[in-house]
Parts: sequence; C-alpha cells; structure tokens
Amino acid sequence: MAQDLGWKELPEGDTLKAGTAAQFHTGDWRSKKPVKDEKTCINCLFCYIYCPDSAVKVQDGKMIGIDYNYCKGCGICESVCPVKPVKAIKMVSER
Ligand code: SF4
Ligand code: SF4
Repeated sequence: MAQDLGWKELPEGDTLKAGTAAQFHTGDWRSKKPVKDEKTCINCLFCYIYCPDSAVKVQDGKMIGIDYNYCKGCGICESVCPVKPVKAIKMVSER
C-alpha cells in the first residue's frame, strides 16, 4: 500500500494535463469583479502588489486595468486600495 512506502519508493507524480497555469482561465470562477475608477485611482499600485493572482495590469508605473482571465474576484485589491472615502477599485456583482 502506498502509505507504507518511503518517499524514495513512491511513484513519480503526475503533471498537469492542461499545461501551465497560464492556460487556465481561472477568472471563470469569479462571481464579483473589481472595477477601477479612472478618476480617483492614484496609481499607488497596492492592488498590484497584493493581488494573489497577478491579475492587476501595470504599464509605465500605472495601474491600467485587470486581467479578467485570471482575476478570481477575491476582493483583496478593493480592501488594500487606500483611496478614501470611496475606494478607487470596487467589487461589483457579475450576476
Ligand atoms: S479581485 Fe483578487 S484576483 Fe482579482 S484583481 Fe483583485 S486581488 Fe487580484
Ligand atoms: S490600490 Fe487603488 S489607488 Fe492604488 S493603484 Fe490600485 S486602484 Fe489605484
């Protein structure tokens, strides 16, 4: 039985059949999506730093949008956005 084997006897692990993570559009899981307010964003890039899926797009030091193919809708970007009183990035329902 596998649980009686040492790590050297275990069979080699499997590979991801679908390929790399880049080929998985995990944004399909999302029920809410972040939407940026162009007028209030101060380009602090906190959302870029904290996004666990690297879904915040940056160009020339500015936040230019969200890659919805990979954004899972966790809402961390909204939480860390420092703009007050209304955040420059808001989670909105996709339903
Ligand atoms: S909702 Fe989550 S995954 Fe999507 S951009 Fe914001 S931090 Fe990244
Ligand atoms: S955290 Fe808020 S202010 Fe900072 S770049 Fe993102 S949306 Fe803009």
